[in-house]
Amino acid sequence: MPHSVKHLLPQRYLRLGLLLAMCLLVFTALAPIMSANWVEEANLQQQETRERLDDLQQLLSGLKDAETGTRGFLITGRQEYLQPYYQGNEHALLLLRQLRQDFRAEAETSLRLQAISKQIDLLHQYQSRAVEMRRQVNGGVDAPQDISPGKLGMDRLRVSVAELSSQLQAQQAVQYNEYQNRRRLVNLVVVLVAVMDALLFGLLLWQMLRSMRERLRASMALREVSERMQAGALDLEERNRQMALLSRMSSALQVCLDTAEFFEVAGKYAQQLFGQHAGALYAYHPSRDLLERMTAWGVLRSETGLFEPHQCWAIRRGQPHQVNDLRQEPVCQHLGNAQPEAYLCLPLMAGGEPVGVLYLEASADLGEHSFPSALRQVANTLTEQVALALTNMNLRENLRRQSIIDALTGLYNRRFLDETLARELIRANRQGSTLSLVMLDVDHFKRFNDNHGHEAGDQVLRHIAQLLRKSLRGSDLACRFGGEELTLIMPETSLEDARAKCEALREQIAELTVRVGGAVLPAVTVSMGLAAFPLHGEQAETLIQQADAALYRAKHAGRNRVELAQG
Ligand code: GH3
Ligand code: MG
Ligand code: MG
Repeated sequence: MPHSVKHLLPQRYLRLGLLLAMCLLVFTALAPIMSANWVEEANLQQQETRERLDDLQQLLSGLKDAETGTRGFLITGRQEYLQPYYQGNEHALLLLRQLRQDFRAEAETSLRLQAISKQIDLLHQYQSRAVEMRRQVNGGVDAPQDISPGKLGMDRLRVSVAELSSQLQAQQAVQYNEYQNRRRLVNLVVVLVAVMDALLFGLLLWQMLRSMRERLRASMALREVSERMQAGALDLEERNRQMALLSRMSSALQVCLDTAEFFEVAGKYAQQLFGQHAGALYAYHPSRDLLERMTAWGVLRSETGLFEPHQCWAIRRGQPHQVNDLRQEPVCQHLGNAQPEAYLCLPLMAGGEPVGVLYLEASADLGEHSFPSALRQVANTLTEQVALALTNMNLRENLRRQSIIDALTGLYNRRFLDETLARELIRANRQGSTLSLVMLDVDHFKRFNDNHGHEAGDQVLRHIAQLLRKSLRGSDLACRFGGEELTLIMPETSLEDARAKCEALREQIAELTVRVGGAVLPAVTVSMGLAAFPLHGEQAETLIQQADAALYRAKHAGRNRVELAQG
């Protein structure tokens, strides 16, 4: 899990928050309905009290009407005053019943109503008695009656009703306050819930956005990792390709037969391995005093074909020499006027000695003008393998040379003669051409050795061999048959031509000047026996015998001459 994701609220807290927000929403939806009922309840209570106050006032006015009617009748004796008396009383009694019904649950009010009710009863009793009496006297004397008891009763009632009214008014005030308080409380709760809703949703939204952002970041990090892995896989693929190429190059180099082939192969693989970086492989010239360009790839800036060992820092130090900035680091002289962005010289080391150098130029598009370490690694491996294979090939070449070359004279040995003669005879047979074979023997060589020493004899043999190598055609072969006896094979040469050649050689040998320790040795002569294919034989053995026989005759005829085979 990426580092930042663990700072997020856990999933279960998010779910809890969401649940809480939903509860709040439901509460927000229900609260107005519930609180409206609650507030309405308080409103209704105070309305009821107001209505009861009204009822009480109407009760009083009904009683007043009845009292006024009573007084009017008592004073005037006129019947029309009795109607308000009856109506007022009836109405008052109805209201009184209603009020007693309404207040039956409230002890104090009920007691007050009860007192009022008694006062009304007393007033009624007085009024009905007074009205009855007035009726009776109405026929005789039209005298008014005393109205003060009614007034007194009415006054008492007024006081009682006023007391009850003020009690109800106080109650109504309390109820009104309650109603107002409830309204305020509900408003506050609604505002609070809305604020909490907003806060909670804000928090959830913020958390969700953060979570989304973190997820995005995590997915980007994941993508980055996967891209890096992909790049790593590509690197690995490239590395595998390079390893495979190096391994193929190594096994190809192991079987190369000569230097030209060897460096052609190495150059082709180097081209594939170094791609856009041009370069060359230099190897020591056989003279060991020069390095020679053996192969090159890419578009090289440095065109040096030959240079001396001291002109390369890598050769001088026996270590890689990399130059990233030509102005600040020592530059190998063999670069001449070439100005690559950067270059690398790696010595080809064999047994602690340099045998050549790998020269690599940085391509122009190389960033920072420095070879990547992977490329340097490849270059290191390549130089190691090339140096090793080159040493192996030279060793093989030396062994091969040793197995076919005679050490004293540098001519081919007897073994090589046997192989080559058989092959050349087959070819001559196939082509229908002539082949001449010469047996050559130094005259009185035993005596020469005796007179001048074995070392002088060796020196003479070396000079004769050198002369033969120089005078013979490329296709001719000179071999040491054994001792001071040599064999010459001349393919596609007629007997006559061979004889002329032998005569010329004989004269040249006789004129050789050989020195040992400053003293000139006396000249030596040679005798030769010459046989030709197919004239004197078709088999190698026969030809050698024929030539040997001719040589024997030359010796007997006085030496220093050429004799032809007979037959
Ligand atoms: P001729 O052939 O003329 O009949 O006389 P010769 O003295 O050469 O006769 P022979 O073939 O009997 O002697 C060969 C001598 O060559 C014997 C040996 O001393 C000498 N010889 C053979 N091989 C070498 C060699 O490698 N170095 C030297 N210095 N002498 C050799
Ligand atoms: Mg001899
Ligand atoms: Mg001999």
